[in-house]
Amino acid sequence: MPASTIIATWPFGQTAVRAAMPLARQGRPALDVAIAGAQAVEDDPAVNSVGYGGLPNAIGTVQLDACVMDGRTLSCGGVAGLENVRHAAALARRVMERTPHVLLVGEGARTFAVKEGFPLDTLLTPDSLAEWRKTRPKPARAPRQQQERDPGDTSHDTVTVLVQDQKGSLGGVCTTSGLAHKLPGRVGDSPLIGSGLYVDDTAGAAGATGVGEEIIRVGGSFFIVESMRQGRSPQEACELAVRRVHSVAARRGVHPARVAFIALDPKGRTGAACTPRTNFQYAVSQGDKVQLLKAPEIER
Ligand code: ASP
Repeated sequence: MPASTIIATWPFGQTAVRAAMPLARQGRPALDVAIAGAQAVEDDPAVNSVGYGGLPNAIGTVQLDACVMDGRTLSCGGVAGLENVRHAAALARRVMERTPHVLLVGEGARTFAVKEGFPLDTLLTPDSLAEWRKTRPKPARAPRQQQERDPGDTSHDTVTVLVQDQKGSLGGVCTTSGLAHKLPGRVGDSPLIGSGLYVDDTAGAAGATGVGEEIIRVGGSFFIVESMRQGRSPQEACELAVRRVHSVAARRGVHPARVAFIALDPKGRTGAACTPRTNFQYAVSQGDKVQLLKAPEIER
């Protein structure tokens, strides 16, 4: 059997990779492996940007975004603005498997979760509430100023997990609580197929993290997968996507936001790249080894 490959965003991606590896070794399908990895991060209260313990929006409510995609069939599902349900990625999979739809939002997503037997819970922890109180913007601060924060700001970060299973098929998950202090109802790239995630066995898989508005603007993950389809390596495709973010930022007369991409191709090759000052690290496993790697920061 060929070794499976798992790649996940940020240092907490190591938690995802380690939780996912036993399933990969059992020969489970890529999507099962990716969801198990992502769920370990959703459950970790110390990660304040994903699932339980995620930082709340402007009015103190945690709203989660997530999506999943199966590279064999291009089946996909997502949830956005989801409240009171910890396992957003698993719920996104139910949307994929048990509804004719791709994306459920807000109250509809929560009602669906209850119907599917997901427990309702508060996602705030004492730590995330204290952090929110400390860092929340003054009431007069406009949303535009929030978007133009210091690119070194760490009040967001998504776990995106891409997997190639032992049969060579690809699957992926993207799950997050989104930007801290976001406007209620704001949806980022993470639940949007083609933006935060895209997976196709015939070309490759890609995922994103960072300021979602900029990722959506360039259709980041779809862009990378289609670049791999045209013959680029995962590394070249990620770098090209970051260059696209730069060129769009230049046209808009703004500095490029903090954005990072990861990719995995059908040969099991991986790649990653980010905009300057993103300091993006990602975890990769091949066989039994887990490595934490730093992505190149693409200057222009
Ligand atoms: N992409 C996420 C969002 O915009 C946040 C992040 O990954 O940092 O909601």
